This record gives sequence, C-alpha cells and structure tokens, in this order.
Amino acid sequence: MHALAVEQLRKVYRSGFEALKGVDLSVEEGDFFALLGPNGAGKSTLIGIVTSLVNKTAGRVAVFGHDLDREPEAVKASLGVVPQEFNFNLFLPVEEVVVNQAGYFGIPRREARRRAEFFLKKLDLWERRRSEMRLLSGGMKRRLMIARALVHRPKLLILDEPTAGVDIEIRRAMWDYLRELNAEGTTIILTTHYLEEAESLCRNIAMIDQGRISAVAETQTLLAGLDIETFVLNLTAPLAGAPGLDGFTLTQLDDTTLEAQLHRGQSLNDLFAALRSVGIEVASMRNKQNRLEQLFLEMVDRGRGAAAAQAA
Ligand code: ADP
Ligand code: MG
Repeated sequence: MHALAVEQLRKVYRSGFEALKGVDLSVEEGDFFALLGPNGAGKSTLIGIVTSLVNKTAGRVAVFGHDLDREPEAVKASLGVVPQEFNFNLFLPVEEVVVNQAGYFGIPRREARRRAEFFLKKLDLWERRRSEMRLLSGGMKRRLMIARALVHRPKLLILDEPTAGVDIEIRRAMWDYLRELNAEGTTIILTTHYLEEAESLCRNIAMIDQGRISAVAETQTLLAGLDIETFVLNLTAPLAGAPGLDGFTLTQLDDTTLEAQLHRGQSLNDLFAALRSVGIEVASMRNKQNRLEQLFLEMVDRGRGAAAAQAA
C-alpha cells in the first residue's frame, strides 16, 4: 500500500509561474522518505497540495488509497503535517494549541488532554505547557508543531523543513524522536535542502529541482553515486603552496587551509597518509557543504550523458 501516491501533479500559480511540472511520486507505507531539493524547487508547493493548503492545477493525489478530490476528509484524518512556516495563535498557551487541534479531529476533551500530555512530554515541552506560544524559542515552536501534528495519531507524518532554525542539540533529539515514530510504524516524509539530514534519517530520497523529480532512489544508492567529495582541511602549520600529490586534487585556500577532492574509491586515510609523507599534518577537517550541489551536478551530467548516448 502506498502511503502517498502522486501522479502528474502540476501547479501553476496565479502569477503564471509553473512550480510543479508533472510530478510522479510514490511513498511506501512505513517508509522514512526525503523530498530533497534546493530552495524554490517546489517542495512546499507539493506538501501544500497534499495537505489541502494549495489547490493543484492538474494531477492526482492519494493518501493510503484515499483520493484527495473524492475523499478529502479521509486524507486529512490520515495525515499529520508540520508546515515550514509557524501558523499559530501566538497568545495561546502551549497545551491549548494541542488540545484545540485534537478538537478539530473530534477527539473528546478528556482524551485530548491525555494525548496532549503524552506528546508534550515526548517532545520535552510539558514544563512549558502554560507558556504562551510567543514566549517559546524557535526549536520549541517547531517541537510544538510536531506535537500538534501527532495528536490525532496520523499514519503519515509530513514535515516541511523540520530543522530549519533549530540548534544542533535539539535537532539531534528531534531526529531521535522521528526515528522512534517511524520504528513504531508511522510513515514519515520530510522535505529538506540538507543532504546530511536526508542521509541520516531517510531510507529513500526523491530529488526535486525546478518543479521536476530528477531522481528517486534508496539513500545508499544515491550517495554511492557521488563521485567526488570535497573536504576542507585545516593544517597544523602554514604552507608555502599546495603540494602536488598523485591522484588527489588539492587547492590552497589560505596559509593553513587546503581544499581536497576525493574521488570514488579514495579514502580520507589515503589522503592523510599522502599528506603526511610530504610533512603536512591535518589539525581538523570538515565536509564542504556542497554535496547536494555536487549530487545535482552529477545528475545533470549523467542525464546529458544518457541523452548523448541516445542521440548517437
Ligand atoms: P521550496 O519549498 O522547494 O523552497 P516552493 O514550493 O515554496 O519551493 O516554491 C516553488 C516556486 O514557486 C518558487 O519559485 C516560488 O517562488 C514559487 N511560489 C511559491 N508560492 C508562490 C505563490 N503563492 N505565487 C507565485 N509563486 C509562488
Ligand atoms: Mg519550502
């Protein structure tokens, strides 16, 4: 059974801009799925349509087999959504936000209070239950939106950029809780423009760019397709120039910083050993945050390659 099935989905905004250009996408029940793409790709538009906030121009959407046009109520009942923008009454106390939401789904008051307590405790917000929304930090607001999205126990949870503006510690706790929910059987779809987020959490990834799906694959398969990874290395001592090392592409950024490209099959250990052999020690390093761009570039290259092969 598909938790979500989208066919030939198109969205043309009133401005005439075509944000979705015929999207086909299906997500299996039980999956932890990422919709990965840069800003402006159409992620929020897609989520907006599935959650009835945006009208589609054409195409079909089904959630657990319920067609969005014919059975919108069944779709709503199966779905929990955490939108990208906060959309709360800022003066409402935390607990009421969750209890009111339960009300929309016809959950009796006592049961609603019980569930609010359960989810607010799970998301580490119970202590703040009497605080007004506006007094919460960004991370707390995001967690409250998750609690609110879960109160009717949806089978599919959709989160639009859930960790935007959330600090590292909280992000980790949030990831753990999402994993727990998924392990208990909730299908999860999240949108992100962080490859790392998709990589850490999701089993399957669809890449979206300019309103089109450019790839759908298991996370492992997709990442194995990354031919080049770029690292930024901080050195223990200043360098006069970038050393020439066989097989590695090195660029000097400043006195004590090198950029290194690793090709598929090369390991960081190989690189460190090669550097050490010419007297260079690495103090620290980081993955340059361009792996997503890299992945897009490689997808485009491969697409061109395939087109060229077909033409030949
Ligand atoms: P993402 O969530 O991937 O960043 P969006 O779905 O928000 O992308 O936006 C996709 C494209 O549609 C962007 O170019 C955006 O400017 C445009 N867009 C979004 N909302 C509207 C709107 N209400 N009217 C016109 N264009 C819009
Ligand atoms: Mg968005």
